[in-house]
Amino acid sequence: MRIVIAFLLTLGIFMLLPSAGVKPHAAGSTLKTIVLDAGHGGQDPGCNGAGEIWEKNVTLAITLKLGKLLEDSMKDVKVVYTRKTDKFVELWERPNQANKDNADLFISIHCNANNNTAAAGSETYFMGLHKTSGNLEVSKRENSVITYESDYKTNERYGGFDPNSPESHIIFTLVQNAFLQQSLKFSQMVENQTGAISKVKSRGIKQAGFLVLWQTAMPSVLVETGFLTNASDRAVLKSEEGQKIIAKGIYKAIVAYKKELEKSAAIKAEKKNTATDSTKSAKNIR
Ligand SMILES: [Zn+2]
Repeated sequence: MRIVIAFLLTLGIFMLLPSAGVKPHAAGSTLKTIVLDAGHGGQDPGCNGAGEIWEKNVTLAITLKLGKLLEDSMKDVKVVYTRKTDKFVELWERPNQANKDNADLFISIHCNANNNTAAAGSETYFMGLHKTSGNLEVSKRENSVITYESDYKTNERYGGFDPNSPESHIIFTLVQNAFLQQSLKFSQMVENQTGAISKVKSRGIKQAGFLVLWQTAMPSVLVETGFLTNASDRAVLKSEEGQKIIAKGIYKAIVAYKKELEKSAAIKAEKKNTATDSTKSAKNIR
């Protein structure tokens, strides 16, 4: 219990950190900057698909394809990459990059793995308490990559997070997330779009505690694009064509999400104009 309290205290102090030095902006109200986070890299290969391919290579390939689609067609959106090559990026640095850039959306791209090779399909996660042990297992596997960082135990940026402690994976999901609704909405869009065009079927949207999403000061999701341990998913994830289709699905979700943000901004502006007009009319009456 004492460990849990100590962890919570550290967490309390730590939660102040993401905002430090980051100038406040209305994150999530517009889509000007997107951070694409290719999961793993360098000494951290991620999960393996039957000895044929590593997760880090698939996530990078999909991320670069998605980035290219965005750069080619959304000239008003800045695309930032946490990595563009096979290099190791510490886990804390990924959301840190997004916060520094005042990003409006953070997308972390991954591949799933399971001992049951029949498990297949994509899942998009947003931050929250897991509802099934399966979801917890996914976040545990993804969070365990901090052990590649030799100083993770003493690095205050992780607030004493212990990948071997069940409490650690749960406690930090209880922190209020101001962007929960938008993250949920975007997760749904990703699953709708990728599920509709890819051969990887959608397993739906899910919640779990991911360290990489924990400190993002904007709507953020983690896409498990498919299971590298499943032969049919792996065939899609390994192929250029399959990667292109998945990137296209996420791209279409971004287009839909941007449209929705612009629509609600237009409605807000319209309401504001109407309110100003009524004030002016009221003044004229007087
Ligand atoms: Zn991963």
